[in-house]
Amino acid sequence: MDFEVSDRMKTITEMINEFVDKELIPLEHDFLTEDFKQLEPVLEEKRRMVKQMELWAPNQDKEYGGMGLSLVEHGLVSEALGRSPLGHYVFNCQAPDAGNMEILHEFGTKEQKEKYLRPLVEGKIRSCFSMTEVEMPGSNPVMMDTTAIKDGDDYVINGQKWYTTAADGAQFTICMAVTNPDAPRYQQASMIIVPTDNPGFNLVRNIPVMGHAGSGYFSHGEVLFQSCRVPQSNLLGPEGQGFAIAQERLGPGRIHHCMRWIGVCNRAFELMCRRVNQRMITPDGKTLATKQIIQAMVADSAAEIQAAKLMTLHAAWRIDNLGQKAARVDISLIKFYVANVLQNVIDRALQVHGGLGMTDDTILAFFFRHERAARIYDGADEVHRMNVAKRILKEYELKN
Ligand SMILES: Cc1cc2nc3c(=O)[nH]c(=O)nc-3n(C[C@H](O)[C@H](O)[C@H](O)COP(=O)(O)OP(=O)(O)OC[C@H]3O[C@@H](n4cnc5c(N)ncnc54)[C@H](O)[C@@H]3O)c2cc1C
Repeated sequence: MDFEVSDRMKTITEMINEFVDKELIPLEHDFLTEDFKQLEPVLEEKRRMVKQMELWAPNQDKEYGGMGLSLVEHGLVSEALGRSPLGHYVFNCQAPDAGNMEILHEFGTKEQKEKYLRPLVEGKIRSCFSMTEVEMPGSNPVMMDTTAIKDGDDYVINGQKWYTTAADGAQFTICMAVTNPDAPRYQQASMIIVPTDNPGFNLVRNIPVMGHAGSGYFSHGEVLFQSCRVPQSNLLGPEGQGFAIAQERLGPGRIHHCMRWIGVCNRAFELMCRRVNQRMITPDGKTLATKQIIQAMVADSAAEIQAAKLMTLHAAWRIDNLGQKAARVDISLIKFYVANVLQNVIDRALQVHGGLGMTDDTILAFFFRHERAARIYDGADEVHRMNVAKRILKEYELKN
């Protein structure tokens, strides 16, 4: 296996690292203390710079104005961008838009692509994704209350969703709703594009998450669909294939997330190493770095980050070369493994900062609050671990 990174990718990631250091990290203080919407004009300026540097929408097709990178290549980009919470947004490869772009690209009609995909890739609009429901288990989404019933040429949607990330200010959502209640369970739901200015689409609130409701792109909405009527031409992909399409969205999405988390780990690790080298803890000038218990935290973090990165790039390579189905176990493995590495590394970095780690004077407390969700969204730890174990055990069953 070739571990060499191409010269082109080295140049791209160097450019991105420099951009993150010079242009984005200095904005983080305002990001932590101000409303996100107030920051949008300056972020627009940064987005213009990214376009000029031709690093815009790295994982989207060139035809639509992206860079057309492979999954492995985009993984490397995602790692570099993950060092700042503003990275993916400024390069227009942030969740949930990135996943929506992918499914629109693959399943959208010509009209849907022109109306929704093109402006999304151009960064003129934002989108969101409404699958999880308040009253139903997101871990088993075949249990879904939201319905889309045909009436004339329309669907009429009713249901209550939450954790519709970035609904605030989005121009449309992709809503999962039951269209075929009599079909087998996995063929009951469909994806339907719903413009957010459509009557019957109600953003009830931005949910307070870990103490912050956020705003604009950095928020999670509760959404009520009340007799929300959209034309049947807004169906995305075949009717009843919502879950199959969701799976398509989640495979590459998990690579994007895991590599972003490794970027977060890298940043936390940088802060941890600087801090332990600087922080004097005895009158004769000994630093935290001289203590073996702290050295163990540094070594464990380095090993875990390296393992997580290699596992994720390997999974991306398998998707690129063998397809998503062949990489199912790899995708589940990285989803829970990397999410836990992320949590451990952030926790250690925060711990060595002592009281400072708890403040918003560094980015660590933000990471600690927000990245906890990594073990829940896109499949909770327990679900992925059970899936991996079941598949592995099944293989042994066949062999014996
Ligand atoms: C920050 C964040 C952003 C999100 N963004 C979006 C979004 O944009 N769009 C969207 O539709 N959804 C989004 N979600 C929702 C997310 O996908 C769900 O929270 C997730 O699927 C889990 O569903 P649930 O919350 O209903 O938990 P439940 O399904 O109720 O599960 C609760 C817990 O039970 C355990 N568990 C579940 N199933 C099993 C099992 N079979 N065996 C053993 N233990 C189990 C796990 O520990 C799990 O965490 C987001 C969530 C978060 C936290």
